[in-house]
Amino acid sequence: MNSLDLLLDKLYNTNELSRDELIYVLENLDEEHTQKLFDYARRTRDRYYGNKVYMRGLIEFSNICRMNCLYCGIRAGNSKAERYRLSEEEIFECCREGYALGYRTFVLQSGEDPWYTADRVVSIIARIKKSFPDAAITLSIGERDDDEYRAFFEAGAERYLLRHETASKSLYERLHPGASFDNRRRCLWVLKEIGYQVGAGFIVGLPGQTKQDLVEDLLFLKQLNPHMIGIGPFIPHKETPLGKEKAGTVEDTLVMVALARLLVPDCLLPATTAMGTLHPRGRELALMAGANVVMPNLSPVWARPKYELYQNKICIGEEAAHCRSCIERRINSVSMEVDMGRGDHYKFRQKRDKFA
Ligand code: SAH
Repeated sequence: MNSLDLLLDKLYNTNELSRDELIYVLENLDEEHTQKLFDYARRTRDRYYGNKVYMRGLIEFSNICRMNCLYCGIRAGNSKAERYRLSEEEIFECCREGYALGYRTFVLQSGEDPWYTADRVVSIIARIKKSFPDAAITLSIGERDDDEYRAFFEAGAERYLLRHETASKSLYERLHPGASFDNRRRCLWVLKEIGYQVGAGFIVGLPGQTKQDLVEDLLFLKQLNPHMIGIGPFIPHKETPLGKEKAGTVEDTLVMVALARLLVPDCLLPATTAMGTLHPRGRELALMAGANVVMPNLSPVWARPKYELYQNKICIGEEAAHCRSCIERRINSVSMEVDMGRGDHYKFRQKRDKFA
C-alpha cells in the first residue's frame, strides 16, 4: 500500500482530508487510483441513496442578466444574445407538462433579471405550489436580498441553487467584474440559515485555475456542508471574453465529483448538462463517479437555444417527453434507476417522514 492508497482509504472512512492531503491526491492520482476513487464514491453514494437517480425538471425562464461573468454566454455584455423572458403563465405551463410526465421537482433558473421582482417570484411559486402541492420548487436565480430569500421560502420554495463558482477570491474577482466574492458566499450561509436545502458548486477548468484553487473549492464545500453540489467543466462561449480559452476536461471534473461525494457523503450531486456536452456519455460517467441527480430540460423548445451559457449545449431541440426517456435509458445503462419522487436530501427526508 502506498500513501495514495492510505489517503483514499482515510477519505472513504472518515470523509475528511486536509488541504495538503488533497493536494497530494490531486498531484499523484494515476489511472488505477482514479478507479479506486470512483469506486469509493459510488459505494458512498449507494450507502445514502442506493442506486436511485433523482430527476429534476429544469425551467430556464429568462436569459436576461445584469451580471457580467466572464465565462457566461448570457452575460449582460453579450449584445448578440437574443433575450427572452417567460411569463408566469408560460412557466406554469412548463410545470404542468413536467408534472404530467411525472416530475415532482421543478428547478426555476434564470439570469439575474430584476423584472422578476420579489412579488412576481412569490406569485409564481404560490401558483405552482397551489396546483402541485406535492412537488418541490428549487430556485436558481442568483443573489438577492435576505428578505427576498425569506419571502420565497415562505411562499413554498424549499431549495436554492447558487454555485459559489470558485472558492479562490482572486480568481472569483477576475471572472466576476463588479461582483462580491464575500456576498455570494454569505448568501449561501443565509439560505441555509433560512432553512432551504442549499446547493453550492463550482466550475472546473476555468482559465487560470490551479489544483490549489480546486482544493479550496472542496474545502469550502466541506465547511458549508450543502445539501446539493453542482460541478461542471468550463466550456467556452465565443461571444464572451473567454471565448478562445480551452475547455475544462471530463477527467478533471469526474475527479472533483468523486472527491465532493466523499467529502460531503450525503449530498445530492447532479451529473451536469455541461458534462454531457463535453462527452457523449459524460453524464453517465458522472453517475459512475458518485453523482445521483439529473436535470432534464423542461423549458419551451423555442427558448432553449437562447439559454446558451456555453457553446454546443445539448438537449436544445428535444421535447420534454423525449428528454425524459433518453435520460432514463442512460441511467439504466449504468445500472441505476430513475426516481421521479421529490428526491429530498437524506436529512430532510427523515424530517418529512416524521411528520408524515
Ligand atoms: N443566475 C443564476 C444562474 C446562473 S447559470 C446564478 O447566478 O446562480 C447556472 C450556472 O451555469 C452558473 O452557476 C455557472 O456555474 C454555469 N455556467 C455559466 N457559464 C458557464 C460556462 N461557460 N461553462 C460552464 N458552466 C457555466
